[in-house]
Amino acid sequence: MKVVIAGGSIAGLAAALTLDCIGHDVAIYERSPTPLRGQGGGVAVLRRMMAFLEQHGHHCRDMISVPTHRRRWIDRDGAVTRDEPEMLPFSSWDAVYRSLCSTLPPGRIHYGRSVTGFEQDAGGIDVHIDDQRIRADVLLAADGTGSSLRARLFPDYAPSFAGYIAWRGIVDEADFDAAAIATLVENMTLHKAPGELFMAFLIPALDGSLEPGTRRFNWLWYRNETDSDTLRRHLTDQAGQVHHASIHPGQLSDDSVATLRQLASERLPSVFSQLVLATRAPFIQAIFDALSPDFVEGRVALIGDAACTVRPHTASGTSKAARDAVSLAESLPADATDVVQRLAAWSAERRAEVTSLLEKGPQLAATFGLGRPL
Ligand SMILES: Cc1cc2nc3c(=O)[nH]c(=O)nc-3n(C[C@H](O)[C@H](O)[C@H](O)COP(=O)(O)OP(=O)(O)OC[C@H]3O[C@@H](n4cnc5c(N)ncnc54)[C@H](O)[C@@H]3O)c2cc1C
Repeated sequence: MKVVIAGGSIAGLAAALTLDCIGHDVAIYERSPTPLRGQGGGVAVLRRMMAFLEQHGHHCRDMISVPTHRRRWIDRDGAVTRDEPEMLPFSSWDAVYRSLCSTLPPGRIHYGRSVTGFEQDAGGIDVHIDDQRIRADVLLAADGTGSSLRARLFPDYAPSFAGYIAWRGIVDEADFDAAAIATLVENMTLHKAPGELFMAFLIPALDGSLEPGTRRFNWLWYRNETDSDTLRRHLTDQAGQVHHASIHPGQLSDDSVATLRQLASERLPSVFSQLVLATRAPFIQAIFDALSPDFVEGRVALIGDAACTVRPHTASGTSKAARDAVSLAESLPADATDVVQRLAAWSAERRAEVTSLLEKGPQLAATFGLGRPL
């Protein structure tokens, strides 16, 4: 089968790998003109994605993650209030992305090409890629949480803002005196205050190095934001453009960066505020819940964040993308003829599988006092 994939990020790459593996003719169209880089910061790589990378990629847990040994909560003065074992493998979005890209046979990804529409009939689907039309059997929408293909299929549906934002940043371990960061190294360290949660952990260097001294701290600061004017101000970039859900590193307005720095100095334990103040290119993501009304419409299937976006506290976005990819390949063997029926069955099964994950996110957020009350 000819499978066109819109979006060459984690979900698109994972699906391309599994479908290519079983003999389908796969082509990814990614709107970014160049391979993606450094946009996502740190990720905890849970079991499914780690197993996926070990089976389909060139990497295993020890090669792409900085192990964490303890989960430690600290108060405003930096005193430890809770300390428990934690063995999460923290990696970076880049490391996961590179591992997937490097395994895909060459020529499968076309950069600088946007999927702009489609028309389907009984025999196939015509996919519009900029000015070109490509005939395919299946179109996979792996175009992320703000999916334009989902909007085309379900124009009345819109993701809902969860009521809080995440300020994020990455800063080199080498920028600090060893003594100043000693308590943060190889721990996941957290601080909670009403309506906010800060966390920091080490991730690999941009080139993948895990050598002490070369790694990076990833920090996230979740904060409730109920005021729509403030939210709009934070989502307005340096050039004055208002974004729907996120602003990439280096594009925050000077006003937002100044607000972030001031809040950090006033509200965070000093071991954390030093990370925020040293971060050259902080970024922001508003947290949205998205569950597409359906995961399939005829020959179009939605995967990854386009199908549903789980809360970041579940740390399961990449693992969910891996499961989407594996389950799709199981549902679409190379000799399948009843594609539409098979995709419909896949959709029903996947929706049932992700329900508990979708419920878990808001519950976890509520335990931290984040988001609207349940
Ligand atoms: C604050 C935060 C923390 C997170 N932490 C974790 C974590 O610890 N662990 C974890 O597993 N996950 C985490 N995630 C989630 C994880 O990053 C995503 O779930 C995962 O990357 C899957 O994304 P995706 O490939 O579906 O979409 P995206 O990464 O959004 O990619 C969509 C791609 O489609 C392209 N595109 C869009 N429209 C078109 C078009 N029309 N034509 C062609 N290309 C197009 C875009 O350029 C982009 O490359 C976190 C998310 C957030 C917001």
